[in-house]
Amino acid sequence: MTSPPPDACDVLVVGAGPAGSACALWLARQGHAVVLADQHAFPRDKVCGDGLIPDAHRALQRLGLLREVSARACIAPHLACISALGGQVEVPGRLAVLPRRELDDILRRGAEDAGARFAAGCRFDAPWVEDGRVVGALLRTPDGQHPIRARWTVLATGAVPQALIAAGMCERRAPSGVALRGYIRHPGLAERLRSMQVVWHRRLRMGYGWIFPGPEGVFNIGVGLAHGHARADGPRRRSVADLNLREMLATFGELHPPARELFEGGQWLGPVKGAPLRCSLEGAELARPGLLVTGEAAGSTYAFTGEGIGKAMETGLLAAEALLAGGDDDAAVCERYQATLRALKPRFDLYERANRVNDHPWLADLLIWRARRNPRILQRMSGVLEETHNPGQLVTLRGLARLMLPVRN
Ligand SMILES: Cc1cc2nc3c(=O)[nH]c(=O)nc-3n(C[C@H](O)[C@H](O)[C@H](O)COP(=O)(O)OP(=O)(O)OC[C@H]3O[C@@H](n4cnc5c(N)ncnc54)[C@H](O)[C@@H]3O)c2cc1C
Repeated sequence: MTSPPPDACDVLVVGAGPAGSACALWLARQGHAVVLADQHAFPRDKVCGDGLIPDAHRALQRLGLLREVSARACIAPHLACISALGGQVEVPGRLAVLPRRELDDILRRGAEDAGARFAAGCRFDAPWVEDGRVVGALLRTPDGQHPIRARWTVLATGAVPQALIAAGMCERRAPSGVALRGYIRHPGLAERLRSMQVVWHRRLRMGYGWIFPGPEGVFNIGVGLAHGHARADGPRRRSVADLNLREMLATFGELHPPARELFEGGQWLGPVKGAPLRCSLEGAELARPGLLVTGEAAGSTYAFTGEGIGKAMETGLLAAEALLAGGDDDAAVCERYQATLRALKPRFDLYERANRVNDHPWLADLLIWRARRNPRILQRMSGVLEETHNPGQLVTLRGLARLMLPVRN
């Protein structure tokens, strides 16, 4: 089903994923006339692990949607980090799993409830430019091209770069990584496996596997290569493109007993699907007069973990705040938005560095082995999850040297 867009609005947000809906909700709540356009009718599927970590909980809380999401989601008691040698450590944190089909629909409805108008079946074709300033967009609907005038346009179109390219904001077409997931129903295992599991193994090198238990006995299982683009281009490394994710998923089933149990005794729901990731706040220009880029289109997903739902909402909110604060001053809006994202960049860089755990799974062995013996290391891992602790410190040379020291409590 499609819903035609109006001819004009204050802010046109393109893309109704977590970034776009958060941005639209926030602006509409402040009384702005917002159109939230997406190429798809909702609810729609989005290839994802569906895992909600603490940053997503915080953003949902801010948006006033945490209660609704938590009531529908499967709450996980901890994140089980599992290494090649079979070591396991359970990292506590606020964790939940909800299929994106449902999560994104809750967010999209939240934006509508706040007053945004949702336009389904509208694909962003190109920006509408007058005198060098973006004054809206040309949206493609089944009836043809539809121009919409907007004081500001926010691109929240995710990891597929076509809209970025069309808007002249793409600096790098190649993704930072790729990941693949499927859904398997297995009510028997659901009674026993309640934590979110992430598994490192040398046979999954350059990536990791996951099993996330969702509602109604359905598991999200997948493998990902949330890999830095710079690293993937390194001469001594296999290129990400060389890696076959389907083979990697099959390998995951061979080496991790719960994955094997799912494959052998569970019921597949729909096909296995893959999608790209854009990480580390790289690969796109963030702003030009009349247009902001936010969410994964701006590279808002963390390298190393591939987590991006929370950061997509956070950056969407930052775009909304820059628009609210900057008023009619183009330069002020662009400068404020770029500055707030620049301030986040060091943290994203640390996740890029922490990515070496995916390259060298023995690091996961070491970390997990030590965390099982030292509650302070486990506490630090929980701090990384909650973002109160720096992930780089766990895998720098100094951090590693500290791991080798005798346990001190
Ligand atoms: C396999 C996989 C597993 C992942 N697992 C997790 C996980 O467990 N937890 C986590 O936090 N993150 C995970 N991520 C990352 C997460 O999916 C992204 O970070 C997040 O979806 C980014 O949100 P977004 O709103 O920026 O973009 P998206 O969620 O991709 O939303 C973009 C929206 O824009 C629309 N759109 C695109 N182009 C156009 C256009 N031209 N015109 C109109 N509309 C358009 C799309 O239809 C879509 O609705 C995973 C990613 C992958 C690929």
